[in-house]
Amino acid sequence: MNLIMLGPPGSGKGTQAVRLAKELNVTHLSTGDVLREAVKQGTELGKKAEGFMSRGELVPDDLIIGLIEAKVEGKELTKGFILDGFPRTVPQADSLDEMLTKHSMSISKAILLDVGDETIITRLKKRAEIEGRADDTEDVIRRRLEVYREQTQPIVQFYKSKSVLAKVQGEDTPDNVFTAVRNAAK
Ligand code: ADP
Repeated sequence: MNLIMLGPPGSGKGTQAVRLAKELNVTHLSTGDVLREAVKQGTELGKKAEGFMSRGELVPDDLIIGLIEAKVEGKELTKGFILDGFPRTVPQADSLDEMLTKHSMSISKAILLDVGDETIITRLKKRAEIEGRADDTEDVIRRRLEVYREQTQPIVQFYKSKSVLAKVQGEDTPDNVFTAVRNAAK
């Protein structure tokens, strides 16, 4: 079972990906978590990524593709995976496809969480109060939504054309969304 969680920031990708990975006993990989940890540790990757992240911009493709490639080559994803936050651009989606094909793997489903802008802004502002994430201020949230629309939305079509896209209504309680996500993953 190789899954991708798609959706705007604040759509609940992380929450659902963690639960689903547990239930299916597959590896959960959040590029946002990996990057935040790299920033915290002050690694080379972290230093390069920090500025982009705090502005709500995407980290350059080559950095993030290299990171995923290392996981694929290192056989860290062989028991099945849920990717959360990757791919986020068409070149990332193309590269992922190439990497997987090379290892005789493929995407089973790309699950798109459908959530409107107003809900997203409300949720992210609330998360800012609770978690204090540096990129959850209103200006940066708006920029991240813009970036999502410009750079990430096009990959929805990419997975649709491969007939693996499953759309899930994300404006519901986490439990109800999880039921829908689990069904969509089948
Ligand atoms: P969210 O989905 O709430 O925007 P994430 O935790 O997935 O947050 O990502 C936080 C930030 O990390 C992004 O705004 C971006 O700067 C960077 N990032 C995460 N994944 C990628 C990716 N695949 N490509 C480029 N940048 C990424």
